Amino acid sequence: MHSTKSTYVSKMVSELKPSGIRKFFDLAAGMDGVISLGVGEPDFVTSWHVREAAIASLEQGYTSYTANAGLLELREEIANYMKTQFKVEYSPDTEIIVTVGASSAIDIAMRTILDPGDEVIVIEPCFVSYTPMVTLAGGVAVTVQALKENDFKIQPNQLKAVITGKTKAIMLCSPNNPTGTMLNTEELQAIADLAIEYDLLIIADEIYAELVYDEEYTSMAAIEGMQERTILVSGFSKSFAMTGWRLGFVCAPPEISEAMLKIHQYALMCASTTAQYGALEALRNGRPDVDEMVKSYRRRRNYIVQSLNEIGLTCHAPGGAFYAFPSIESTGLTSQEFAEQLLLKEGVAVVPGDVFGESGEGHIRCSYASSLEQLQEAVKRMKYFIDSL
Ligand code: PMP
Repeated sequence: MHSTKSTYVSKMVSELKPSGIRKFFDLAAGMDGVISLGVGEPDFVTSWHVREAAIASLEQGYTSYTANAGLLELREEIANYMKTQFKVEYSPDTEIIVTVGASSAIDIAMRTILDPGDEVIVIEPCFVSYTPMVTLAGGVAVTVQALKENDFKIQPNQLKAVITGKTKAIMLCSPNNPTGTMLNTEELQAIADLAIEYDLLIIADEIYAELVYDEEYTSMAAIEGMQERTILVSGFSKSFAMTGWRLGFVCAPPEISEAMLKIHQYALMCASTTAQYGALEALRNGRPDVDEMVKSYRRRRNYIVQSLNEIGLTCHAPGGAFYAFPSIESTGLTSQEFAEQLLLKEGVAVVPGDVFGESGEGHIRCSYASSLEQLQEAVKRMKYFIDSL
């Protein structure tokens, strides 16, 4: 064999760590009878009327690109949705971009705001994409640990301690993946005060904003003085059970939106036209579906939190999203050992907490976007596993 370059892959990408979640799915995929509490997506199928609207759009021949920012009708519905649900007003013309999932919204946000070496504060435990997105945009992710003893709520002094002259933004996710922790208005206000004091942007990942169970949700953009420094990321994957449609959106002040649109138009052109017609229907007529799903998630959350505590895995009641994040420290196992042994011995897939960051160690993420029967069987197997240790 003739020699080639040792690798064609860039140094930056070679050094990127593969997602710790995927590794577990690959392991579980080769096994029979596995109950998965691993995946971060709704178990519901998208409502039929939404699927029908997408099919109808194809029947009518709507198969071309849309405007780069997305169908104007959809942006108008998003503006209406943000105003009604979250009390923030955005202009459909200059402040909203329809994206390929929240994922691409986060990507274009980072690429838009970061010059090489600029820092973004990433609060762990968090969604596994944030740090890689910052890195790929040429920035530096500065991680800070939300702690179990604070119910995984970041404390303002912890943020203050890592702000430097290079800090451009704080990446915030509430309700959080993987902890389910939701920040209330006062807690958001404290972070907002810091952002204003140090002239920082907040990238607010509010993808789980509809899936909240105890308190009313406050959007970061609804805090006084924050809309002008918030890049609000959301989408249809979780609230409307539309993960596979790949549709999200981002709302930001005109200057930032215009800049994000430059990247979006070159990199993606526009989001899927068919998916956009589905989303239009979801926003216009999907409210009862959301209410129904939230009711169901709340029931499941109550069940799983109580049962995990009963079998000895201490777990705070998460205010939103669809994840329980119990401590497994009483077992003496690391989160990787726990997840691997639970999968191999009892066929239950969960995600080890350390993949979400340092302070996730000692915990596992259990998604309760599964039927109650599945959850009951999973808890039974987990109890058996723990008793056998
Ligand atoms: N943000 C968070 C916190 C998530 O949990 C997820 C999906 N797991 C995403 C963003 C990505 O969502 P989308 O399907 O809209 O790209």
